[in-house]
Amino acid sequence: MYKFVVFCKISANMFEVLTSGHFLPSAFIIMKNRLSIWANNIAPSPTLAVDAAAKKLKAEGKDVCGFGAGEPDFDTPDFIKEACVKALEAGKTKYIPSSGLPALREALAADYVENRKVKGVKASNIIVSPGGKFSCYLAIKAVVGPGDEVVIPAPYWVSYPEMVKLCGGVPVFVSAQDSSDFKISPEQFESAITPKTKLLILNTPSNPTGSVYTRGELEAIMGVALRRGVLVMCDEIYSSLTYDGVSAESAASVSEEAAANTIVVSGFSKAYSMTGWRLGVMCAPGDIASAVGKIQTQTTSNATTFAQYGALAAMENKAQAGAALADMLKVFDRRRIALYEGLNAIPGIACRRAKGAFYLFPNISQLGMSSTDFCSKLLEEVLVAVVPGVAFGADANVRFSYAVSDSVIEKGLERMKRFCSKF
Ligand SMILES: *Cc1c(COP(=O)(O)O)cnc(C)c1O
Repeated sequence: MYKFVVFCKISANMFEVLTSGHFLPSAFIIMKNRLSIWANNIAPSPTLAVDAAAKKLKAEGKDVCGFGAGEPDFDTPDFIKEACVKALEAGKTKYIPSSGLPALREALAADYVENRKVKGVKASNIIVSPGGKFSCYLAIKAVVGPGDEVVIPAPYWVSYPEMVKLCGGVPVFVSAQDSSDFKISPEQFESAITPKTKLLILNTPSNPTGSVYTRGELEAIMGVALRRGVLVMCDEIYSSLTYDGVSAESAASVSEEAAANTIVVSGFSKAYSMTGWRLGVMCAPGDIASAVGKIQTQTTSNATTFAQYGALAAMENKAQAGAALADMLKVFDRRRIALYEGLNAIPGIACRRAKGAFYLFPNISQLGMSSTDFCSKLLEEVLVAVVPGVAFGADANVRFSYAVSDSVIEKGLERMKRFCSKF
C-alpha cells in the first residue's frame, strides 16, 4: 500500500492537515492517490486570485479600483443577441454537427480568406469550440504528446504552460524583454529548438503585453519554424483590437507554406464582447482540423447551438459588427492613452505604448519590489487591483487592463501616484 506514497507530491500545509489527527492514515493514503498526475501538476489561474481578492474587498464595501478584468466592459451588440433569441424561439435547441454550424464555418472560412488574408481556407479547416481557451487546448492536445517540447515566449498568457503540461508536454520558455517590445527574435526561437520541439505558441496581439508582431517579424519566425519543422499555434483572439494605425496580421497569412504549418486560434469573446457565450474558433490545416474535430466529438460535442446563430449574425452583418467594433475601439483607445500617459508620469514606473488588446504592462522594477509584493501592497494600501507579472512569466512588470471606465482610470492613477511616492 505504501508504495504509492513515493509518487505523490503534496504541499506542506496539506501534509499538516492530513496528519493532524483528523484523518486516519488510510484516508491519508487514499486522498493522496486519488488525483491524476494531470490534476496534481496543474496550477490554478493566478489572474483569478487577484480578481477574488478585489471582489472580497468590494463585498466589504471598499471602493476598489479594479484593473484586473480580462474581458471587455461592453455588452454584446443587440443585433447578435437578437439573432440568438430568434434561434432559441425557432427551436434551435438541438445538437448540430460537432465541429460547428455549417453556415458559421463557411462564413468564418470566407472571413479568413478575405479579411485575414489566409489563402485556401475552407469550411473543413474551421472548428467552432466552446471558447477560445478550449480551442487553444484542443490545438495543443491534437499535436503535443508526452515529452514533446513546446516553445512559449514569455511574457505569456497564463493558460498556455498549464495546457501543455495537461497534454504531457514540456513548456520551454523564451524571454522577451521590454526593450524588444516583449517580442522574441527568430534567433531566440531557433536557439530554443531541440529534436523534441513540436510546437511554438505565438500570441499576437498579446495578453498581457499588448504587443503586436509585424508582418516582417512573423515572416522571419515562420521561416525558422518551417526550416526546422516546428508547428505553430498562433492565438489571434485580439486581432481586431489594435491602435495607432497598426494592424495585426495573421501568422498563417505570410505564405501558403506558413498556412499549412499553422493553427490559428481565435474566438468571439473579445472583438464582439461575447465572453460569456463561450465561442472559440480554430483555423487549422486539414489533418489537424479533422483530428481536433474527432477529439471534440468525444469530449464537448458542439458548442451551444443557439449561441452559434448569434455568432453567425456577427459574421453576416459586417456593417453592424464593424460599427460596434469601431465604437468600442474608440473608447479603448482613449483609455489606453490616458492610462499610458498617467503611468509614465509616475516616478518609478515605465510603460511601453502597447498597440493591441486592452492591456498595458508597465515595468515596476525601479520600485525595488517583486510584482507580487507590489500588487498585494497596492491593493492593501490604496485599493488598486492589478495582476502581478510573475503570473505571466515577467516579475518586473504588472498588468493593467483598460477595459474599465475613465473614472476608474483617473482615480486609480491618483492612488498609484500616492502609493509610489513613498518608495
Ligand atoms: C481571452 C483570451 C482567450 C480566449 O477566451 P475565451 O473567452 O475562452 O474565448 C484566448 N487567448 C487569450 C490570450 C485571451 O486573452
